[in-house]
Amino acid sequence: MTSPDAATPSLAAFRRIVVKVGSSLLVDPSEADLKREWLAQLAGDLAELHRRGADVLVVSSGAVALGRSVLGLPRGALPLEDSQAAAAVGQIALARVWAEALGDRGMVAGQILLTLGDTEERRRYLYARECLTRLLDLRAVPVINENDTVATAEIRYGDNDRLAARVAAMASADLLVLLSDVDGLYTADPGRDPAARLIPVVARVTAAIEAMAGGAASQFSRGGMRTKIEAAKIATTGGAHMVIADGRAPSPLSRIADGGPCTWFLTPSTPMTARKKWIAGSLEPKGCVHVDDGAARALASGKSLLPAGVTRIEGGFARGDCILIRNARGGEIGRGLVTYDASDAAQIIGRSSRDIEGLLGFKGPDEIIHRDDMALGGE
Ligand code: GLU
Repeated sequence: MTSPDAATPSLAAFRRIVVKVGSSLLVDPSEADLKREWLAQLAGDLAELHRRGADVLVVSSGAVALGRSVLGLPRGALPLEDSQAAAAVGQIALARVWAEALGDRGMVAGQILLTLGDTEERRRYLYARECLTRLLDLRAVPVINENDTVATAEIRYGDNDRLAARVAAMASADLLVLLSDVDGLYTADPGRDPAARLIPVVARVTAAIEAMAGGAASQFSRGGMRTKIEAAKIATTGGAHMVIADGRAPSPLSRIADGGPCTWFLTPSTPMTARKKWIAGSLEPKGCVHVDDGAARALASGKSLLPAGVTRIEGGFARGDCILIRNARGGEIGRGLVTYDASDAAQIIGRSSRDIEGLLGFKGPDEIIHRDDMALGGE
C-alpha cells in the first residue's frame, strides 16, 4: 500500500478498459425501474474514453433485477428457474437501454452473453475472445453479461465481479473498473468501526487484504467485497489494474479520473506479458510444430508463425491448444496457441497463406500461431 498521489494511475493512460456496472446502480430498487439519467451520464464518461481512442467494454448486471419486477417475482434470493425466467425477460430490456444509451453518444453496442464454459474452456474461450476483439476492432462497445437463462446452479459465475475480471483477462484489457455502491476496500467494516479507513492503493492482494474483505458473517462482506477481491486477483494476474469505486454519484468515471475516493489494485504485469507467462508456464502442450531456419529467425524477430515455415507437425491437437515449437534440430524454441486443428494444419504446412482457402475450403487465419499467442524461450 502506498499513498494515492504517489502511485495512482491516471485513467487517461489506459487503452482497453472494462467497466462493470452493478445491478443496484442501474435499477432503482424501490421502483424497479432503470436509472436512465445516471446511465446517460455514465455513457458520457464512456464516450469520452472512447473518443480518446480507448477500447471500452461494459459488463452489466441488472437482467434478473429488471425481469423480476416485470414478472412480479418477490425480492430476495430466487429459485434457479425463477432467476432464469427473470433474466430472460430482463436481459432484453437491459440490452436495449445499453444500445440506446451508448447510441445516444455515437457508440455502437454489441451484446455478448457468456457462460462459465466460454471463459474456462480453451476452445470456446478462443472464439469468445475473437468475437470481442473483432467488435473492438470495429470500434463497437461489447456489452456483456452472464447468460443467466442457461446458467445452471453448479456451472455459473453468479456474480459479475469475477466474470468482469475474466473478461478483462480475455480481452487483454489493461484496466478493470468495478462500479458498485461502496467507495472501495476499507481496513474494517465502516458501518461498524468508526476508525475504518479507505485503502487507496493495494500493490498486491495478500492474506491481510483478503481478511479485510470480511468473513461470511460480516454485513460488509455481503456487499460483495469478497468477490471483488477474487476479481482483483484474476484481473491483476491477467495483467490489468483494477479499481473499485462508488458508482452512485453522477459521472463516476470522471470522479475516479479527478482523484475521487476509490481503491486501486495494481498489477505487476501487462496483459501481454501475463498472457505469455500463462502460455509458457501453465498449459500442457498437446503437440508440436517443427519449423525451418527461416521461420525460426522470423519468430525471433517478432513475427507470427506462418504455415509456409512449418516442416512437420506432431500430435492430435485442436484449434486453441497449446503446442510446442521446435527448430530444425528438434530443440524447443517456444510454445503457443495453434489456430488450426491438426488435420487442417497437416494440409496447409509448407504452403503459402494465400492457398489456405483453396486447400481447406474456408478462409482461416493467415498464421498457424499468432505472435500474441506465442511465448518464445526468452519471454
Ligand atoms: N448476471 C446477473 C444479472 O444480470 C447479475 C450478477 C451480479 O449482479 O453480479 O442480473
